Amino acid sequence: MKDPLELFSNLLLVRTEQAMKNEYLKNLPYMLYADKDGQIYDHPYFRMAGFSGCYSVVLGEEDLMPMPEFSKLFFIPDCPPIGLDPSTGEFKTVSEIEVDGVVTKCFAVAAFIEPGLVRSHLPAVDYGPKSYILPMWAYTAVGFMDESYWTAAFRIEYNHKWDPRNYDDRELIPAIEKFQKEQHGGPLVDHLINCATKNHCFAAKNLFLKRWEAPLPVSQTCNAACLGCLSLQPDLSCEASHERISFTPSKEEIVALAVKHLDQAPEAIVSFGQGCEGEPLMEHSLIADSIREIRRKTNKGTINLNTNGSWPERMSAVAKSGLDSVRISLNSARPEFYKAYCRPKNYDLTDVAASISLSKEMGLYTMINYLVFPGITDQEDEIEALGDLIEKTGVNFVHLKNLDIDPQLYMQNMPAPKSKAIGMKQMVDILRQEFPDVELGYFNKPVRADT
Ligand code: SF4
Repeated sequence: MKDPLELFSNLLLVRTEQAMKNEYLKNLPYMLYADKDGQIYDHPYFRMAGFSGCYSVVLGEEDLMPMPEFSKLFFIPDCPPIGLDPSTGEFKTVSEIEVDGVVTKCFAVAAFIEPGLVRSHLPAVDYGPKSYILPMWAYTAVGFMDESYWTAAFRIEYNHKWDPRNYDDRELIPAIEKFQKEQHGGPLVDHLINCATKNHCFAAKNLFLKRWEAPLPVSQTCNAACLGCLSLQPDLSCEASHERISFTPSKEEIVALAVKHLDQAPEAIVSFGQGCEGEPLMEHSLIADSIREIRRKTNKGTINLNTNGSWPERMSAVAKSGLDSVRISLNSARPEFYKAYCRPKNYDLTDVAASISLSKEMGLYTMINYLVFPGITDQEDEIEALGDLIEKTGVNFVHLKNLDIDPQLYMQNMPAPKSKAIGMKQMVDILRQEFPDVELGYFNKPVRADT
């Protein structure tokens, strides 16, 4: 028979561990819920949980941070939140709550966090009742504790040039008026005034504020059909975030805007490939001709291209024209996950990898715009595939951008996982260890000194 003392001490150990676990659970932020009008409340009992993919998880201390003030809060109609019972450690769908004898239906709450932060967990939501597609935001787990909101995220980069506190629209309108007096207008300027004032695009605001990174959208078409495309959503049940540009700007207007910005703005960047257009490589000749003309007129600042990297030959032609840096977007380094999200036409991930490699070989500052999603990006197989891609291509910088998409839609379209998700923070730690020379961040940067 087993030694009773041993049995007792084991029991004591289990009890102590359970008590400590319960203590920890009790110290987690409270779950949030909203009523049908979107009024947000903290639940008096259940604690905040998170999703990795579509699985409920208990959040660790390292996963949580106070939610920065320029974050947004959303409620998710028809969908109850999933909370954590601090006494049992069980996850519970909380469909309703009774307060002072009044029963209220509960709807899940999510945050959209400030730029520069990587989301570690998705909101814990029962999407069962949902019959619509959520607009494209990077929904993030959020809770409430000690009079403040807490979110599941960690900072990957701080850059004052993208800090919402440095964008005051009271300065913008006079700046636009002054810009219009100084510069000949044109369809591209009008388009960018709409981007700056209606879509609140920071890059468009910078053009008129004459500083930092400014946009040069040129393409109406694309050779992919990303599930989360910001400028074109064929499925009418989900509105695109931006109106796609509806004309092709002239080389003259592109060059005039670019030269003025590169000559005048501090730490100037002009970027082809914006959220309000299709794929810029569809207009590679216009871009290459414009860059040659820009560089004939000024040697200042950085000329950047944000692209899906689908066309190595065209990438090479644009690089030869005088491009300084390139940022190539992908949601995954695994072909089946890439294909399921980007739905490419007549190209695949090998073409994208080839564009990354040749960009580096041709001396461009080469960046990957990695669209990250907890539960997919931190799968062991994905981390390995990304490691192979970084090793093979010699990329300089990896942007860790939270993917703006309806979490349920994304999970429904991604292949079934073959390996476990180890956590977004753990994924970043591995990248840092494996590739100490590769910069991890969130924002484009000038790569050419202001000469
Ligand atoms: S590559 Fe860009 S423009 Fe094309 S579908 Fe994807 S997000 Fe949209």
